[in-house]
Amino acid sequence: MRVFVSKPNCPNTRTTLASLFCVILITSVILTACRLPSVDPNGTATRDESKQATVTDVQNTLISATETISPTPTFTPTPEPEMFSQYDLTVLFDYENPHLAVDMSLTYLNKSEETLNEILLVVDANRYAGAFHLQEIAWEDGQVVSDAQLDGIRLSLPLQQPLNPQEEVSLSIAYEIYLPNNRDYFGYTERQANISDWYPYLPPYIPGEGWLARDPGTIGEHLAYDMAGFNVRIKLASPTNPEGLPLVIAASARAEFDGEWYNYRLEPARTFAWTVSHLYQVQQTTVGDTTVIGYAFPNHQEAEDTALRETANSLEVFNELFGPYPYDTLSVVEGDFLNGMEFSGLFYLSHAFYDFYPGNPMGNLTIITAHEVAHQWFYGLVANDQALEPWLDEATTTYSEVLFYEHVYPELVEWWWNNRIYFHQPVGWVDSTIYETGAFYPYRDAVYLRGAMFLQDLRDLIGEEAFFSFWREYVERYSNQLVTGDDFFNLLGHHTSADISGLLAEYFRTR
Ligand SMILES: [Zn+2]
Repeated sequence: MRVFVSKPNCPNTRTTLASLFCVILITSVILTACRLPSVDPNGTATRDESKQATVTDVQNTLISATETISPTPTFTPTPEPEMFSQYDLTVLFDYENPHLAVDMSLTYLNKSEETLNEILLVVDANRYAGAFHLQEIAWEDGQVVSDAQLDGIRLSLPLQQPLNPQEEVSLSIAYEIYLPNNRDYFGYTERQANISDWYPYLPPYIPGEGWLARDPGTIGEHLAYDMAGFNVRIKLASPTNPEGLPLVIAASARAEFDGEWYNYRLEPARTFAWTVSHLYQVQQTTVGDTTVIGYAFPNHQEAEDTALRETANSLEVFNELFGPYPYDTLSVVEGDFLNGMEFSGLFYLSHAFYDFYPGNPMGNLTIITAHEVAHQWFYGLVANDQALEPWLDEATTTYSEVLFYEHVYPELVEWWWNNRIYFHQPVGWVDSTIYETGAFYPYRDAVYLRGAMFLQDLRDLIGEEAFFSFWREYVERYSNQLVTGDDFFNLLGHHTSADISGLLAEYFRTR
């Protein structure tokens, strides 16, 4: 949980009275921040509570000092920065014969309150036949791990010694990836190479349940991510394609160049994704401190301009509604496949949205841009079990689309409802998993479309003020965490006393 302490502007004055006023103001702001009740997503004591107790203790010390010695506190304590597991990835990438040679080192911090005897890594690239080739795993001391087991997407590593809470373990993995010829966000086509979920990663560890590593479904996303820190270094085997066209990399963060190396730093983030093409047309704009960068294929300038503009518009709207976007850059990339897809700091829009851009906001280029930008909050900042509770990020982002239209194209709100929702006459439970509908459209109708209908009905029932104050607190309170439906409804109960049982019965099977 992040606690935002905003410092009031104090006048630069020599008068004792003004200084005293500032001290009182700062102290009261800090106390207000510390009074935030702690909500535990797992129903057990958390590190956040102990951290909060520590801050409060320091405050109490401060208060007694100001009462007995001096009205001026001598320092403002800052909360301990949250620690994340760290990934260091060094990559040599051959675009012509799409292949990655990767050296990765990983430091895992056991944030659970359980002692672990093994750690699990998810290797999503191993879903693709012949893609992932493990070369060597070694512990920090150089000892080779000989008893690792790779089974499907799960790579389990028995630990040399038990890992206690708050302890770290480090290891290194050397591996190669032969990128599949695949029109998707992991694979290459004649127009681009997309490199997502390309490293073995640590899924969240759920106390009492274990590692949250779900099986892939035939539709939907199955992965769940903790926040982590990423240092990524990429070197291209050749800076151009065989025709001499320079290769362009788009990534989850801004590159810094060091000779032939592209260096990236991103923390905290759910994932680090990147993509390379000899065709990308690049343009950028800014929203506050964020640089929005568009990467698109040639020959549809108007659509390319629109994708960039609507990304910026979405960012402005959601910054206002949900709280600030956390990164320096946000990249919107034209994908050589048929859907949109979100990653930290980067998302794809299908080439079909560009190719069939209608020249106005009544189309998928605008709708799905808003949807994917909203994922930076619902998936990025606030994450969830995408396999079992996909509504937490898909219903919220679908509803965010109409919030975008309300702010940017209010005359099209009714069009959005008719075109995006009612036209499909959606049926199904909002709390469906990715495994049960069997096909994409029934899944979308139940989770995305009925999910948006539920959120609108909820808004109508509890009122504008309660609805939007709930959203704002939901994002602030659960940023960097993994939420459940229980967390969602528990927090909602703090913002409204309205009886929502009728809505739950209408939309949810399990509530
Ligand atoms: Zn989505």
